[in-house]
Amino acid sequence: MSGAPLAVYSGPRDLEGIVRDELGARFTVRWVAPEDDAVAKALRDATVFLDASMRVRITAAMVADAPDLALIVTATTGADHIDADALTRRHIPLLTLKGQSAVLNSLTPAAEHSWLLLLACARSLPAARAHVVDGGWDRTLFPGVMLRGRTLGIIGCGRIGQWMARYGQAFGMTCRGYDPYLTVWPDHLIRTELPELLAAADFVTLHVHLTEATRGLLRREHFQAMKPGAVFVNTSRGELIDEAALLEALRHGRLRGAGLDVLTGEPDIAEHPLRRYAAGHGNLIITPHIGGYSPDAVAAVLRFSASRIRAHFEDTR
Ligand code: NAD
Repeated sequence: MSGAPLAVYSGPRDLEGIVRDELGARFTVRWVAPEDDAVAKALRDATVFLDASMRVRITAAMVADAPDLALIVTATTGADHIDADALTRRHIPLLTLKGQSAVLNSLTPAAEHSWLLLLACARSLPAARAHVVDGGWDRTLFPGVMLRGRTLGIIGCGRIGQWMARYGQAFGMTCRGYDPYLTVWPDHLIRTELPELLAAADFVTLHVHLTEATRGLLRREHFQAMKPGAVFVNTSRGELIDEAALLEALRHGRLRGAGLDVLTGEPDIAEHPLRRYAAGHGNLIITPHIGGYSPDAVAAVLRFSASRIRAHFEDTR
């Protein structure tokens, strides 16, 4: 549409249709590659910038060179890549996903992946698969754990932790949660102190942000306090746990297994002791931080973010 204000979108190109759907009636929508020069050039004519890549730093110079810029929306919770002070000076609002609990709570890939790791450990999936690939067919080697009636221990009961509790409930498990900051507890999640949770749980799953306060949250004594034969899952951050203590618990057979989507020092993990152990042992499953990575989720937050642009200009008309 000529004469219409320009909305510049940088993010997955195959999702451009979503942005056109939401904004096409009012804006000329232009996709730009997530590259510094391309974004800087497009911003010179833009009224709105919609970012779903986080791959380009939006600098003060770019903002100064964008006379019509009236709004930036980023389809992410963090916005460290955008010079917020430069926007404030020009009274340009910056909308992020931070605090948008309705849309964030609707994103389940990280919880689904955590559940996958839990199930895969419960049924020795990597070893069973390798057995068949090698020509074996002996089920007595792979006794499974029945989840119904078992206890799921959730450390960190926010967005992902509460999805884990829902899944646990659907599988007939008793769900116990440890979270010193949660004020409203769902009915099916029993508030439990950490020592009692570790003593009771057949499965322990960790869903806490990494901060200076939570670094090293699970120490050696915590792994030693877990129930013999328990399964441990971490899709949050490697630095939250004593990884050497986890390795020891796996090596000595104290834990049945562990599923990890995160490692300290990732992505440089070639020499990581847990990676080396996983190469020779089926009871440790490690995936490359894929939990939250899902085009479905990106599409959902992109549609939400584009709809906020429409709402913003309707409100300020
Ligand atoms: P959230 O903020 O909704 O929940 C975190 C919870 O941890 C909060 O309820 C908080 O009160 C609690 N908490 C804080 N300190 C604690 C402590 N010392 N002990 C116990 N609980 C504590 O976060 P979320 O969206 O559920 O995300 C959880 C983690 O998952 C984050 O670390 C995030 O980075 C990670 N994550 C990973 C992937 C992936 O791809 N693997 C994807 C998304 C999120």
